[in-house]
Amino acid sequence: MSVTTPRSPGPQRKVLEELCGVDASCPVRIARSPELGRFLVAFRDISEGEVILKDAPLVVGPQAESAPVCLGCHRPVGLHEPHVCSNCGCALLCGPQCEALPAHEKECQALRNALPNSAPLLLKDDGNWQCILPLRCFVNQPKGLFQLEAHLDARKESGAWFECERNVVKVLHNHGLLMNYPEQAIQKVCGLLDVNCFEVRGPPDETGRSESLRGIYPNAAFMAHSCFSNTHLAIGPEYTLIVKAAANIAAGDAIVFNYTDTLISTAGRRERLRNSKYFSCECTRCTDPTELDTHLSSLRCPDQGCLGSVICTNPLRPIEATWACDKCEKTLDGSVVRTGLVGVQKELLEVDQTNVEAMETLMAKLARSLHPNHAAMLEITQALSGMYREQIMDEGPIVPTGLLKRKLELCSSLLPVIEKLEPPLSRLRGITLYEIASPMVALAKQKKISKVSSATWAVEVRDQYVRCEELLRESARLLLHEPPTAPEAHLAKVALMELKGVRQEIAELNKKCAKIARKKK
Ligand SMILES: [Zn+2]
Ligand SMILES: [Zn+2]
Ligand SMILES: [Zn+2]
Ligand SMILES: [Zn+2]
Repeated sequence: MSVTTPRSPGPQRKVLEELCGVDASCPVRIARSPELGRFLVAFRDISEGEVILKDAPLVVGPQAESAPVCLGCHRPVGLHEPHVCSNCGCALLCGPQCEALPAHEKECQALRNALPNSAPLLLKDDGNWQCILPLRCFVNQPKGLFQLEAHLDARKESGAWFECERNVVKVLHNHGLLMNYPEQAIQKVCGLLDVNCFEVRGPPDETGRSESLRGIYPNAAFMAHSCFSNTHLAIGPEYTLIVKAAANIAAGDAIVFNYTDTLISTAGRRERLRNSKYFSCECTRCTDPTELDTHLSSLRCPDQGCLGSVICTNPLRPIEATWACDKCEKTLDGSVVRTGLVGVQKELLEVDQTNVEAMETLMAKLARSLHPNHAAMLEITQALSGMYREQIMDEGPIVPTGLLKRKLELCSSLLPVIEKLEPPLSRLRGITLYEIASPMVALAKQKKISKVSSATWAVEVRDQYVRCEELLRESARLLLHEPPTAPEAHLAKVALMELKGVRQEIAELNKKCAKIARKKK
């Protein structure tokens, strides 16, 4: 597997000892290569589902653009009138019980010392959430944090640099915080947070709503990137990051995960990685013009009657490259394709993404020029699937057949793409399997009630339920890897409940089928 991510040189031996000292059974080591820098590698064969690493965070805190969260327990505040910390007079908290929680302890002291008068200004209105995690890094000084790569040279004078200057450095200094640290030192911490943070789901409030947080993990930070991941990441108790093998991994393979999203096209992923992680990915997926035979970047051949796909001949240089049809002689200039794709992006931005009709119309329009699996088409598919899910829930017990069929069709079109781009143990695959099974079960129920078909209806319906059983079983198997508090774990329970019902239906229909067979004789 080819992976590319630059890493800074650093105290390799020390981290190696720490990493392996935590748990002797840990099946990975830190290796080093000229193009990858330091990265995690399997030192023995690892089986799918096996735990590779359990990593406690060095620091956790709000995202740059967060809704108000309690700085003690990280639950969303705002449902009730928030409590202002009586010690620092600044932090919003759920209540006095969160004042002494460790997450807020040291920053509370720093805030109290620095903010005698202007305290309420810091987290007023939309808040200055972006400065909280950098502040935590300085007041807590977590061991090993400051050695992480920040790509300061690449960030200098970039949009991210100016944003940090405006939202972090100036805000902190204007409030008398971190006065001993010059801008450069704070910029470095903002850089290493942007490059190394993992997204973490915060704990839910009483309505089940939670805010997305970010955290730094000392050992997982060495996982290299690949657009084809071989790991499954989940957050356990106390924000522990649990890394499992998402496929069988051979000794010597790099332990990798996808820093971006699976259903983004090559150009989109590479741009994100360049802008946020400061490297150019050249993994197997990025260098394959068909994106592992999914055609996530391909267009439809514009020649009438040709059903070919127009593919970028050099995906690492899509604008300079020629795009060629895989069935006829037709070619397009990269610059022409780019103009077209900019237009597509514009339409996606302008369309009302909450309007089913508008999204269906746009999908039909784009289908004339884009491959059915193009990332833009999949984006619409996912949005529509979500809206149809809600419509189905609102319908009550009798859902129109057409609605169920459309939902089934959309989700079924996603599955082959996900199966090619995600490893076997995939959260996205688990969710999609459930999303396919759910309307399929409802359609089987409708078919059973209507009894319109011939004597073979029992066989037909039973076979449909058998397919539902396979989907639900696999969905639950995948989602049961999620920590018990995750919404996906709840979905696993729902899938298991539906599975039970489906198995009862199959047993009942098997009896009917046997009866029909006896009658035939
Ligand atoms: Zn709280
Ligand atoms: Zn406080
Ligand atoms: Zn890649
Ligand atoms: Zn063609």
